[in-house]
Amino acid sequence: MQRRTVYLETMGCQMNVLDSELVLGQLRALGYDPIADMTKADVVLLNTCSVRDHAEQKALSRLGSMKKPKGLRPDIVVGVIGCMAERDPDGIFTKMPHVDLVCGPAELNKVPALIEEVQANRSRAVALSQSLSRKSTPVQRALEYDSVEALDLSRRPDPDAPVLQSYIRVQRGCDKFCTFCVVPFTRGAERSRPASQIVDEAKMLADRGTKEVTLLGQTVNSYVNQEDGKPVRFAELLARVAAVDGIQRVRFVTSYPGDFAEDILAVMRDEPKVSSYLHIPVQSGSDAMLQRMRRQYTAGEYVELLDKAREYVPDLAIASDFIVGFCGETQADHEASMKLIERCAFKNIFVFKYSPRPDTVADKRDEDDIPDKVKRQRNNELLALQERISTEANRQLIGSTVEVLVEGYSKAAIKAQEAEQSRGEEVTWRRSDQLVGRTHRDQIVVFTGGGGNIGRFAKVRIDAATALTLHGTLADDASDDGTKPPMADAPLTILQPERK
Ligand code: SF4
Repeated sequence: MQRRTVYLETMGCQMNVLDSELVLGQLRALGYDPIADMTKADVVLLNTCSVRDHAEQKALSRLGSMKKPKGLRPDIVVGVIGCMAERDPDGIFTKMPHVDLVCGPAELNKVPALIEEVQANRSRAVALSQSLSRKSTPVQRALEYDSVEALDLSRRPDPDAPVLQSYIRVQRGCDKFCTFCVVPFTRGAERSRPASQIVDEAKMLADRGTKEVTLLGQTVNSYVNQEDGKPVRFAELLARVAAVDGIQRVRFVTSYPGDFAEDILAVMRDEPKVSSYLHIPVQSGSDAMLQRMRRQYTAGEYVELLDKAREYVPDLAIASDFIVGFCGETQADHEASMKLIERCAFKNIFVFKYSPRPDTVADKRDEDDIPDKVKRQRNNELLALQERISTEANRQLIGSTVEVLVEGYSKAAIKAQEAEQSRGEEVTWRRSDQLVGRTHRDQIVVFTGGGGNIGRFAKVRIDAATALTLHGTLADDASDDGTKPPMADAPLTILQPERK
């Protein structure tokens, strides 16, 4: 088989990271090897995000940089996949006439056929997700899901390579229609995947060496699927995945506050494999803003939910998202968000400046009336407050010992390895270096140790702390047998995720 090369760059959330893995898996099976230099690839794909205008501008800029290489080598296939492709295919073709294919997020199993179509006919190819009707019943949606996702098991990039951590999608789409959000338009109606399929995938991954799985859904806790005529809800699914032999840690993102049932908290309390971590976006501390965003809960109800969650899981770490400068946000609304941050003791927060997204209710109904300067200032104030809270909390851990799943080399160590490779030297996995691991509370810990520790649970004594990172000393160094550790070759080029 003639081998060709593909460059695949991912923007956006974990959903996109997983989608990229699956697309790459399909293409590898068809004879494509991943390549790091987009200008030298036979196929260039950009997996895009539409959640913020900034993300779309970034995608357009990356596509713009392909104009010249495409001019020199017209046989290159340039494709846009994911949410931006679904949202604005005409705009992409108009602004970037050198793009050959666009493919929406629910049609990604068609990417190989679309590439072939472009190569054979030298014409554009398009696949969008109009078929995912919001009118269909849950049973029809489940069948639809089967047809889209059933290929998951065979689509991993390299089926034989041990991968320490994996995403498993449990749900697609969203029915919430928050007024600022484009996801229900780009990813379609909420469809939960059959539980048996998810558990099978967890077993397959465990057999291949995966120790940690992250269950993915836009509103993952609202998962529900029928089995033998009875509903399987998220709490049951979580318990079933945690029961899979070999899986040692289960995480899930992203939770929606309005749907959070106590049975999920009970599983988190009773099942030690489930991480003590919740990513549960609040978006604002002001009830007026929450109502304008159509978030279906009040700030008080959100705080009550967090209090309840901490009753069940006392060491629970909670992350949240905030939007600053949403339409009509007053100083008092902003201060309500500050107050909520003080009250909730988050582990960390993600803050985004509001930007109107086409077709959303907020875009059609409200004026984007907060000046960018004010948005920036509010953004900085929220982050500064959270940084103080996180630093204080992390410093309290100095002197304690935490358990981490050792994920790999820190960025500094990876750079050193790349430098060795570029000098033509053989990379030595035995070298003692900076490693990075994560606790069951999703805290990042950087420490010194040999590559043989990667993939195992290790004890690290904490010596220093910043708002986002703990630094420590390995308390139980594993002997390094020199075998190449899992995840040492990242197959994809991943950009910093944009949270929704
Ligand atoms: S913000 Fe989340 S819950 Fe709201 S519409 Fe978007 S994806 Fe759905």
